[in-house]
Amino acid sequence: MKPLGEFEVWFLTGSQDLYGDDVLRQVAENSKAIAAGLDGSESIPVNIVWKPVVKNPEAILAACVEASSSDKCVGVITWCHTFSPAKMWIAGLQALTKPLLHLHTQFNRDLPWTEIDMDFMNLNQAAHGDREFAHIEARLGLARKTVAGHWQEASVQQRVGTWTRAACGLWEAKHLRVARFGDNMRNVAVTEGDKVSYQMAFGVAVNGFSVSDLGDAVLAVPIARVNELVAEYEKTYSVVPSLLAGGKDRESMLEAARIEIALRDFMVAGGFGALTDTFENLDGLKQLPGIAAQRLQAEGYGFGPEGDWKTAAMVRIVKVMSKGLPGGTSLMEDYTYHLDPKDQKILGAHMLEVCPTISDKKPNVEIHPLGIGGKADPVRLVFDAGTGPALVVNIMDMGDRFRILANEIDLVPPNKAMDKLPVGRAVWKPRPSLSTSAECWLTAGGSHHTCLTRAVDIEAITDFAEMTGVELLVIGADTTVSGFKKEVRWNEAYYHLARGLR
Ligand code: MN
Repeated sequence: MKPLGEFEVWFLTGSQDLYGDDVLRQVAENSKAIAAGLDGSESIPVNIVWKPVVKNPEAILAACVEASSSDKCVGVITWCHTFSPAKMWIAGLQALTKPLLHLHTQFNRDLPWTEIDMDFMNLNQAAHGDREFAHIEARLGLARKTVAGHWQEASVQQRVGTWTRAACGLWEAKHLRVARFGDNMRNVAVTEGDKVSYQMAFGVAVNGFSVSDLGDAVLAVPIARVNELVAEYEKTYSVVPSLLAGGKDRESMLEAARIEIALRDFMVAGGFGALTDTFENLDGLKQLPGIAAQRLQAEGYGFGPEGDWKTAAMVRIVKVMSKGLPGGTSLMEDYTYHLDPKDQKILGAHMLEVCPTISDKKPNVEIHPLGIGGKADPVRLVFDAGTGPALVVNIMDMGDRFRILANEIDLVPPNKAMDKLPVGRAVWKPRPSLSTSAECWLTAGGSHHTCLTRAVDIEAITDFAEMTGVELLVIGADTTVSGFKKEVRWNEAYYHLARGLR
C-alpha cells in the first residue's frame, strides 16, 4: 500500500479525432505507459489512474466532471501527446474543481536523429500541443502547477509526487473538522480570525465544544483503560521515577492518561482531525493536556494551543501531506533567541505540547510545575528535535484574506544541554539569517505559533497555496528584506484586485 494509496490522481491525455485510429492507438498505449510509470514511482504516494485519451469537447467535459465528482480523485494530470486544439478544453477546464498539474513531457526522451520522419513528428508533438493547451490554461487564469521534463526523470517524478501530496493536503482540508475546547486566549490578535472566510478558503470546519463535557468524560474513563495506556507510556518512553508505580506523582500520570483517552474518544466519535485547547478554559480538567496533545499529534492529529485553530489545522494538513515521509511535524512556537552575532539561533518550544515526531530519540516522560493556568502540574514528553533542514509555516487572517508565511530553516543541536527546560525543544538557524528572517517575518505580520515540519519542503506548501489561491510569502536562502517588503506591497495590491468587488 502506498502512503496515500486511498487517493487517486487521474492522468488525462489530450488529442483529437483527426489523427486516425493507428496514431490514436499509439497515443493511448504511450500514455498508459507514462501513467503506469508514474504510478510505480516511489516518489509518488497516490495511485495514478490512466483515463482514456480525450479527443473532443464532449469527452473532455465528461472526464473533468467525473474527476470533480469523484471523492477519491484528489487531482488531475493533463498532457497532450499530440496537438489537442484547446478551445475543445474550455468547458471541461471550467467544470474542473480539482487541482490541476500540467505535465509537459513526451514519451521518448531522445530524439531519434537519424530515423526521424514526419510520422514521428506528428505523433510526438507535445512541444507544441502542450503550448496550445497551456495557452487556454493561462487564458482561463487557472491555478495549476506546470512540470516540464521527461517523465522518467527522478526530479520530474519527485515534483509530481510533491504536488500529489499537496493535493491530498487540500482534500484533507476540505474534509477536516477542528474541535475547539475553550476560545482563543483572551486579547491575542494573531490566533483570531474569521472562521467562515477560513472555511470558504480552505474548506476546514472549525467549531467549539464545552470543556466541562470533556471533564465529565475524563471522570468516566475506566481504570483498566488508564492502566493499559500508562503501561504503553512506560514501554514507549523513559519515565521519571516519581511517575512510576509507588512514586509521589503517580496519580498525575494516571490523570494525564485519563485526559488522553477522553480526548481521543472525542476526536474519533466526532470525526475530528485537529483540536485546540487553552489554559484559560480548563473547567473540569485537573491539568492542561500535555502528553495527550503530544501523543495525539504523533498519531496524526493537528493541535493548536491557546485556541489557535489555524495552526491546529495546518499541523493536521501537513501531517497528511507528509504521510510515509521521515521527519515529523509539530506545533511550534518561536520562544527566545541566541543573539551571538557569529551564531544566531532561535529556540522554539511550547509550554508542553510539542509533537515528539520531530525528535530522533526516545522522549522522557516528566512532571513539572506550570506557572500559567493555575492547575495541577502537567505530565509531558521532554526531548530535543532532530537536526537538518525544516520549515516553519504559519497562516494568518489579514482581515480581507488569509496569508501563508513560511521560513526555510536548519535545525541544529543546542549549544549545551538544556536540562532545566523540561519541554519539547527545537533550536534552529533560520534562512538566510536570523535578522533577515525575523525582519521579514515581522514585516509580514507572522505569528509566534507555527507548524514546524521536517517532512516536506517548501514546494509542497507552494503547491498547496496555489491550489487554494491563498497568498504565500516565503523567506529562504535568497530572501532580502528590501525584496520581501516589495513583494508584500505588490501582493497587497494583487490580492485586493484579484478578489474583485463583492
Ligand atoms: Mn503559545
